[in-house]
Amino acid sequence: MKFLTRFAPSPTGYLHVGNIRTALFNFLLSKQNGGKFLLRIDDTDLERSKQIYEDEIKRDLEWLGIEWDLYEKQSNRFERYIDVFEKLKIEHKIYPCYETKSELNLKRKKLLNMGKPPVYDRAALKLSHDEHKKYEKDGINPHWRFLLDKKGVSWKDKIIGDVRIDLASLSDPVFVKEDGQFLYTLASVCDDIDFNITHVVRGLDHLTNTAIQIQLIRNLNGDVPVYGHHSLLVDLSGDNLSKRLGSLSVRDLRNSGVEPMALINLMSTLGSSNSPKILHSLNDVASFFEINSFGSAPTKFDLNLLNSMSSKVLRKTPINIIKKELIELGIPNDDQENFWEAIKENLNTREEISQLWDICINGIYPVIEKEDLEFVKTAIKILPQAPLDKNSWKIWTNQVSEKTGRKGKSLFLPLRKALTGKNIGPDMGKLLPFLKKIPEF
Ligand code: GLU
Repeated sequence: MKFLTRFAPSPTGYLHVGNIRTALFNFLLSKQNGGKFLLRIDDTDLERSKQIYEDEIKRDLEWLGIEWDLYEKQSNRFERYIDVFEKLKIEHKIYPCYETKSELNLKRKKLLNMGKPPVYDRAALKLSHDEHKKYEKDGINPHWRFLLDKKGVSWKDKIIGDVRIDLASLSDPVFVKEDGQFLYTLASVCDDIDFNITHVVRGLDHLTNTAIQIQLIRNLNGDVPVYGHHSLLVDLSGDNLSKRLGSLSVRDLRNSGVEPMALINLMSTLGSSNSPKILHSLNDVASFFEINSFGSAPTKFDLNLLNSMSSKVLRKTPINIIKKELIELGIPNDDQENFWEAIKENLNTREEISQLWDICINGIYPVIEKEDLEFVKTAIKILPQAPLDKNSWKIWTNQVSEKTGRKGKSLFLPLRKALTGKNIGPDMGKLLPFLKKIPEF
């Protein structure tokens, strides 16, 4: 069977850094194995699923360069889920239940009070024909539970090795709600089988789901994919990241100027025995990625690490990758390479590229301390005529130093501030040839 992985987000919110790990692992595995990658939108919950979230999910993946070969939406497949549902019904693998939420809560509390696990007692299986008829007559719709085979389910996990989950202490899971909504398990399994998904990588929070899904797949005579469960991300104090998902949405990172390849480099190694590399393409990342180098312990995510990785990636970006951006800024062809060389070492975000180019073309209002005013005036007067080149700064500052007696910081800093309006920035020797608007006095 052709190697096929999938990423199956629910469009009920923005993607967060943890989701990107899942997407990336599946994508990289498919790349490494000459396979394909499916983007599946898990939108069976029609009320909570929103088009805007789906659009943003796609935008996030596109921004990261994670391209999908196949695309599907669960809301297009309800007919197929109904078929499977009917089949399971005929085979008595699912059964109708009528308990209300509060009745179920009460049952749960009673069991817990007795020190027992709160497992559903399958009371609905004991309902008589007449009792069923009465519910029907009263217009009460049932929810449907899957009849678990309460034994252990084992598999060899791609990441955590041998796993065995005991289903005895689980309640029969609800597959279909009273209002007819298909819940995640039935739809997901149905799709995994129909699309011939060969490998499923997802978070450790899905471990029990996997055991249930394996049982359902076997019931439906499907092929059980290879599973891999990666650790979950936590913040630096060890708390679940979901608490602060808002601040760690991929959308926000994207808007904050983080380099997409920084997120990719970090996520492809965080929690593994490999340290992150500064790579600029997903092909390169795929050639270093090792799924079995990851562990199961919660993995700390540090936003500062991502930001520092982001400037490292940007500073090392080769001209051919950044060229498009330089063209968009209107930087002439002949200047692109030298300008990039001049500025890259000091960049933190891409936004600074346009800011620097703007200073070059339009100049700035000079920042000059009172005590430096005469000094700067003298210096600007003897600035050589354009065109300036890579030696101009050195020649000029030597002359300025001779004339004013200033050296070191007291020589260079006021000039930098007068020409760029900033205390720090690119090597002035490299930048000076691009400064087209020198302040006049
Ligand atoms: N929609 C599910 C989720 O976002 C998919 C889980 C899976 O990969 O099966 O958690």
